[in-house]
Amino acid sequence: MADTLFSKIIKREIPADIIYEDDDALVFRDINAQAPVHFLVIPKKPIAKLSDASAEDQALLGHLLLVANKVAAQEGLTDFRLNVNNGAGASQTVFHLHIHVLGGRPFSWPPG
Ligand code: AMP
Repeated sequence: MADTLFSKIIKREIPADIIYEDDDALVFRDINAQAPVHFLVIPKKPIAKLSDASAEDQALLGHLLLVANKVAAQEGLTDFRLNVNNGAGASQTVFHLHIHVLGGRPFSWPPG
């Protein structure tokens, strides 16, 4: 997979406001926040998009959700929304898998 903005953040080649890290995941605040709290949970493994994940990524994908939960609690959120954009037609702009976690305001349904 080609180097992306997010792989450069993992390698500390570009700065980010990192709020959690472990062996498999990195979490940093979105630079263009869409809610009072908006952070991104990414795997360190370079998976371009969710539909590129396979059965071997099962534990990693579960881990990312638990990390999202843990950091949401760390941020004081009880209600929050997770969003994964898969592909350009779904507004994905950075092709390194990421889970958006948004909170701190009400969210309507359906999403736009
Ligand atoms: P997506 O449109 O789902 O691919 O989301 C990509 C997200 O990455 C957007 O919400 C951007 O605001 C965010 N983003 C882009 N560059 C950076 C950066 N350098 N640091 C933090 N977030 C970024």
